[in-house]
Amino acid sequence: MLLARCESMLIQRKENTMRLFECGSLVPGCAWHTRAENDAEIVRRVIEHMRDTHGETVIRENMVDNIKARIVDETQAA
Ligand SMILES: [Zn+2]
Repeated sequence: MLLARCESMLIQRKENTMRLFECGSLVPGCAWHTRAENDAEIVRRVIEHMRDTHGETVIRENMVDNIKARIVDETQAA
């Protein structure tokens, strides 16, 4: 009975895990963050934010790598 409960919790956690990006990990002092179900969506939103808020008109390839390296599972970040 206890085992069955653990299993259902694990499955639920897996399904609900969101990916989280906090801009402050890339741009110190910025409180902006975003969460999405997949990394591609996060990267898309972060690039938009970089353009709008930080004036990064040219997004270089290493910027995308930097973003991806800082995306975490929301459960770990909390
Ligand atoms: Zn920012």
